Amino acid sequence: MLTASEFDTAALIAADKRYVWHPFTPMAEWCALANEPLVLVKGEGARLWDSEGREYIDGNSSIWTNIHGHNHPHINDAIRRQLERVAHTSFLGFTNPAAIKLAEAIVRLFPPRTLSRVFFSDDGSTGMEAALRIIEQYWRLRGEGRTEFVAFRNGYHGDTAGAASLGASAMFGVTASWRPPVRQVAEIAELEELSAAEIGRIAAVVIEPLVQGAAGMKLWPKGMLAELRAWCDRHGTLLIADEVLTGFGRTGKMFACEHEAVIPDLLILGKALTGGYLPLALTLINEKIAAPFFTGKDPESTLFYGHSYTGNALGCAAALASLEIFERENVLASLQPKIRSMAHHLADICGLPQVAEVRQCGFISAIELATGDAAVARKICRAAADRGLLTRPIRNAVVLMPPFCITEAQLAQAVAALTDAIMEVCSSESGAIAHSPQSAHA
Ligand SMILES: *Cc1c(COP(=O)(O)O)cnc(C)c1O
Repeated sequence: MLTASEFDTAALIAADKRYVWHPFTPMAEWCALANEPLVLVKGEGARLWDSEGREYIDGNSSIWTNIHGHNHPHINDAIRRQLERVAHTSFLGFTNPAAIKLAEAIVRLFPPRTLSRVFFSDDGSTGMEAALRIIEQYWRLRGEGRTEFVAFRNGYHGDTAGAASLGASAMFGVTASWRPPVRQVAEIAELEELSAAEIGRIAAVVIEPLVQGAAGMKLWPKGMLAELRAWCDRHGTLLIADEVLTGFGRTGKMFACEHEAVIPDLLILGKALTGGYLPLALTLINEKIAAPFFTGKDPESTLFYGHSYTGNALGCAAALASLEIFERENVLASLQPKIRSMAHHLADICGLPQVAEVRQCGFISAIELATGDAAVARKICRAAADRGLLTRPIRNAVVLMPPFCITEAQLAQAVAALTDAIMEVCSSESGAIAHSPQSAHA
């Protein structure tokens, strides 16, 4: 096991504060003397270790990416084997076996002649950015003036300017002058109220199927996705499913769209695609949308989009290995009892007076506190870390979504840590929280 002396934690933290800029982080607070961030140095299965040798459960799957566990021998081997051949070669004018095999394997996960074309990029944001560019150009090639994107309020589709324009603006701060035309709606009913002229300008509707992740794991009503598919079909507009969070088993099925037998026109995959190992994303496109790009003349029908690491062989090797694990370890079947077990544990948490609502979709859950104070949720996550559980809140909700490989015992341990953390923090806060009138259980 690790010894504390392997790492000089104080020196590492000092250098981090001196040289590093962290994402979505108020850096003045981060750099304050009192902040002692954990330096994570090792992982195994659902567990992580810090530089002081302390052990934790990875309660949010390292920001929603990991599924089969850290240090998985099969993914490690696949990456090592690829590394011994070559780490990266250009996808511009060349191709490589790992990317070809991955494209074929992914297409085979969908019914024939549906999502049959794969565009590679680096992360969820660029996967979404590519989708927007493809659709914009598709309608231009078709000579139709469909230029507006429709997104759902409080959604999240990534941080590049195009992707962020679709998302909750207050949270992701893209100014109006940077935005491609986006109309945000709260629900399908709002779409029904649009005029024919307005509908005729809609290029595509984008949705996080089943669950809006960054909104705090907000669940869509059952049937909503199928209803949206039908609306898009009725009005000749496209449906983009952002499965960056929900893809690869998170909701209990391989893809969230399967729950409502929906096939979108474009589908974005990221996060768990490589098992949570390497940055890689895919934009899947159906035949109809891809066709004009494959039959037309250059330059009108060439997609001028791509990144230096497009089709990265190490990432593709990891993704292929992750797909193999789904088969070898019968991952989706063995996840089902764990989903039920998570629900069982959460029912107890739901009974706490400090908790307003508990939401679960497959192996994703969020515990919304009765207090609206985001600082309380942050304190709870710090208290949970002291008890061996790492996670990160979204405003006043605490996320629990460990890797699928977590054992029943570890899951119980994670929930116990979270329960104790809630009790401790909320009892030391003003009595107003525990006795708040909002604390009725959902
Ligand atoms: C995380 C996420 C993204 C962005 O992915 P990155 O890899 O962080 O760029 C997009 N859409 C959804 C639904 C996500 O959860």
